[in-house]
Amino acid sequence: RFIVLEGPDGSGKSTQASLLAQWLRDAGVPLTTCRDPGGTRLGDRLRSILLDRHDCAIDMTTELLLYMAGRAQLVRERIRPALDQGHWVLSDRFLMSNWVYQCFAGGVDDRVFHQVAEVAVGSTLPDLTLVLDLELETALARTGGARDRIEDRSWEYRQRVRQGFLEASKRRIAVKPEGEVRVLDASPCPDILLTRLQHEVRHALGF
Ligand code: C5P
Repeated sequence: RFIVLEGPDGSGKSTQASLLAQWLRDAGVPLTTCRDPGGTRLGDRLRSILLDRHDCAIDMTTELLLYMAGRAQLVRERIRPALDQGHWVLSDRFLMSNWVYQCFAGGVDDRVFHQVAEVAVGSTLPDLTLVLDLELETALARTGGARDRIEDRSWEYRQRVRQGFLEASKRRIAVKPEGEVRVLDASPCPDILLTRLQHEVRHALGF
């Protein structure tokens, strides 16, 4: 079983990913967790190139390719071996983020995304995608402002990101053909949100 948490910055993904992981482990599920970008040594190095505020220009298509390169490594080094061993995998972001940030909000052609995704990820796609949705004002209040190069981008870009996740969920971008996608309101407090996510996991994965 492959579960992915998606959503804009400040939606509480990382907090929920660790709470969900704890819950699954406590229930005896053999679990591998990762975050994307990151999750491998190469991925962590690419993550810092992508997120550091430096003065080297990164074109949006190049940005898409760098995220995708990190993910190709993550899939081969961690995700596929874990699934092959019968582990569940829980990833904090995955392929849907790439479409949202670089295509829907960033303007890269969808065909480029689909071609590169096929090479990088192939059929290793989530069985369940949980998308956290939150108003931009609330998300910004939670993060306390911009924390990296991507979060420095304009208000309009970040609004497109929020819409992009809703659109990607509707269009089932980056989802396995038989996979499930759920959009959840991320405004409740962490405990309540966790209960809702647990409900979705139980319901979708029969757990
Ligand atoms: O969620 P996390 O903090 O790990 O995401 C790192 C950063 O990478 C965020 O600022 C997010 O906006 C950005 N990102 C991106 N394109 C992706 C994935 C993440 O711009 N495909």
